[in-house]
Amino acid sequence: MAQLDSKIPPGPIADKWRRHKADIKLVNPANKRKYEVIVVGAGLAGASAAATLAELGYKVKSFVFHDSPRRAHSIAAQGGINAAKNYQNDGDSVHRLFYDTIKGGDYRSREANVHRLAEVSANIIDQCAAQGVPFAREYGGLLANRSFGGAQVSRTFYARGQTGQQLLLGAYSALSRTVAAGGVQLFTQREMLDLVVIDGQAKGIIVRDLVTGEISRHAADAVILATGGYGNVFNLSTYARGSNATAIWRAYKRGACFGNPCYTQIHPTCIPVTGDYQSKLTLMSESLRNDGRIWVPRKKEDRLKNPADVPEADRDYYLERMYPSFGNLAPRDIASRAAKRVCDEGRGAGESGLGVYLDFSDAIRRLGEAGVRERYGNLFDIYHEITNESAYQTPMRIYPAVHYTMGGLWVDYNLMSNLPGLFVLGEANFSDHGANRLGASALMQGLADGYFVLPYTVGDYLATQKPGSRPSADAPEFKQAEENIRGLVTRLLAIKGREPVSHFHKRLGKIMWEFCGMARNRAGLEKALKEIPALREEFWQNVNVPGSGSSLNQSLECAGRVADFLELGELMCLDALEREESCGGHFREEHQYPDGECKRDDEKFAHVAAWEFQGAGKKPLRNTEPLNYEAVKMSVRNYK
Ligand SMILES: Cc1cc2nc3c(=O)[nH]c(=O)nc-3n(C[C@H](O)[C@H](O)[C@H](O)COP(=O)(O)OP(=O)(O)OC[C@H]3O[C@@H](n4cnc5c(N)ncnc54)[C@H](O)[C@@H]3O)c2cc1C
Repeated sequence: MAQLDSKIPPGPIADKWRRHKADIKLVNPANKRKYEVIVVGAGLAGASAAATLAELGYKVKSFVFHDSPRRAHSIAAQGGINAAKNYQNDGDSVHRLFYDTIKGGDYRSREANVHRLAEVSANIIDQCAAQGVPFAREYGGLLANRSFGGAQVSRTFYARGQTGQQLLLGAYSALSRTVAAGGVQLFTQREMLDLVVIDGQAKGIIVRDLVTGEISRHAADAVILATGGYGNVFNLSTYARGSNATAIWRAYKRGACFGNPCYTQIHPTCIPVTGDYQSKLTLMSESLRNDGRIWVPRKKEDRLKNPADVPEADRDYYLERMYPSFGNLAPRDIASRAAKRVCDEGRGAGESGLGVYLDFSDAIRRLGEAGVRERYGNLFDIYHEITNESAYQTPMRIYPAVHYTMGGLWVDYNLMSNLPGLFVLGEANFSDHGANRLGASALMQGLADGYFVLPYTVGDYLATQKPGSRPSADAPEFKQAEENIRGLVTRLLAIKGREPVSHFHKRLGKIMWEFCGMARNRAGLEKALKEIPALREEFWQNVNVPGSGSSLNQSLECAGRVADFLELGELMCLDALEREESCGGHFREEHQYPDGECKRDDEKFAHVAAWEFQGAGKKPLRNTEPLNYEAVKMSVRNYK
């Protein structure tokens, strides 16, 4: 059974991080260059970590499967990044950001981590502004803010609808500087396929060169995974198509516990699915809910009418009606479920009935078209490109879609997994968002982890490792891991079945969406737990992976990733089945209040479920880490 010591420092919550930094072990500057650290992933979390570690003097190897770190999924982030700066003088504070995040996560996150996140949020903005990130500014020169869901203050910093891109360019510049200075060795188009564990500690990785097919071993004193989220298990999602779970899944199979795998975020404002040919869904940023109003017709018979022909009195602005305090800025899980409910009632817009309107006519009357264009122009352009409709003239049609995974590898307060030497950052870990993430807080967490948390905490581990004690990549554990990967590649290529990888991915996605999506129940999850292993079996009998393993072969890359999704999907359903309560994005239909809101069971489930691999074909072990709330009182979430 895994040892789950959260290592939460003692003392009052507001002092924990400051005291911890003062107490943890340090590595002296001359020793830092004797340690080699591997960072897998160079999105916001990985690039910021690699650059900062190199600036501190560690030798860093950075691996990405993309051809440039600039292609990481982080680049897609549109709306913004939160920070408790209180520039608007509207009552924001570290405590309020902390409280909103805990409540937003439906009291299923670790208090101490979240408080630290709120504390360092302000530093992130300073760091990024100093790097030249072009945040929007007000007339007087101060950085501007807007509001995101689950908050009654304006604390979201943004660069039009391209915040992720601009932040990533900042982090990439920092990374490039350290690459040029020799502190970071950058390996692009390399995919980590296995973790090497020696004497219970993470000591390296196995990597495949995606262009030549070469498989190589890399030893290190510590391994850091910043490999993003796993929402593509649903096939259709707002994620970049390449986002996958392979790095964390293979680490799980080497002993790292997987925290809360069933916690998935469904984002309420995405362009609805239009057909089976689609490979991806597109987000319409939450920032649009600052000015857009969401509605459906009151009467079913109006749902196919031109929205302009539905009189004001016949429109149901259901979020404003149901949640008057937060209105259209209700948190994502709540807004998504409300959209599902009105569509299930038969009032959804469009042919499929799976759509609600996001209407800017009021905002255009108030701000003028130019004002709306200035705030959201690029998002309206994206919408137009995809739907051929102008949202200046007719309301956008939106529907919830998979967007983010709150689950991930379990980490302690130092962001270290239960495998000593393995650290996990950004969306790849489970740590800060509980059962539901608030908007604009993923960028905050990724950059907090990479710039401000890991650079301290990794030293606490490295100081326990003798400089120069790093094992050789010729150690038997490396050889065995390399053989494991060679065997996997050979096996996938040898099947020569009849169906392409995408066929299996689509079918898995449908099972996951139907039974482990916005609403879940026992019967459905049990069904999924039968269907997924059968589909996996079929995959291993009948998948067709053309080409060879010694050159660029995207079918082969996808096959490995889908094989992992076929295992992870099962774990997600198992986790969802065993969590007999509703919380945040995990909505079990059996556990709801009469008004359809989530019914938590704090007595039985105020804990993190950290699943431990027990071997192929065996049921994984469900470990738990209790969640103790000292600074915040657990209560029923209320946005009314
Ligand atoms: C459309 C969209 C809009 C969003 N908007 C916002 C927003 O406005 N605000 C907000 O806070 N959040 C937003 N999010 C969420 C946020 O963008 C992500 O959670 C965050 O960027 C994840 O960053 P990351 O560094 O953890 O991972 P990623 O950016 O996903 O980076 C993963 C990295 O790991 C590498 N990698 C993965 N696996 C391997 C492997 N096996 N081997 C080698 N390399 C590997 C990849 O190459 C990449 O470099 C949005 C998400 C989407 C989909």
